[in-house]
Amino acid sequence: MGGFSNLDAAWQRALTQAWRAHVLGNIGVGAVLTDRTGFIVGEGRNRVVDTTAPPGRLHGNYLAHAEMDVLALLPVGDYEHHTIWTTLEPCLLCMSAIVTSHVGVVRFAAPDPLWLGLDRLREVNAQADKHWPERIGPMTGPMAAFCAMLPMVWFFRNQGGGAANRAYESDHAGLVDLAQRLAGENTLDVLGGEPVEAVLERLGPDLVEAGG
Ligand SMILES: [Zn+2]
Repeated sequence: MGGFSNLDAAWQRALTQAWRAHVLGNIGVGAVLTDRTGFIVGEGRNRVVDTTAPPGRLHGNYLAHAEMDVLALLPVGDYEHHTIWTTLEPCLLCMSAIVTSHVGVVRFAAPDPLWLGLDRLREVNAQADKHWPERIGPMTGPMAAFCAMLPMVWFFRNQGGGAANRAYESDHAGLVDLAQRLAGENTLDVLGGEPVEAVLERLGPDLVEAGG
């Protein structure tokens, strides 16, 4: 693979957070916020099942998404030139939070077909349109495949599949198969203590074969 060290520092941190979320039993999504110079000003992860968290961090509920984790740290201010980097395309909740926080740019690694059509919100609402961020993504390749696959493993393990995974089936059947296989075996559990770059290295051939 060798790709991890070539990634933007923000992607490296977002991937690290996504893997940490997964290892701790949450949905594997990570997010990072950078300012106009590219400096990382915040990072977070999904915390939907966490029973404890640092002060001010959402956790243990359906709202504890990675992007929310980052955006909830922000004091009222101007974030038009900030970028939020997230391993999975923002859902309805997080797009609303991004619009409300006036963050100007969203970069996402994996697409989330569950929320197809959200872009049309800006057609029906002027305020949403005014603050709708520039959206850059999805990415391609093994890293993006990893970012798509990791949450799917959670849904297979905790909800027997789920709507998100079904939404992936038409265009990403190989990834859904890989996620289902990994959900049923201990490969990811054994890698739990490893840094995400080692996990990507280990899963690289599978991710490529699955369509990454
Ligand atoms: Zn979300």
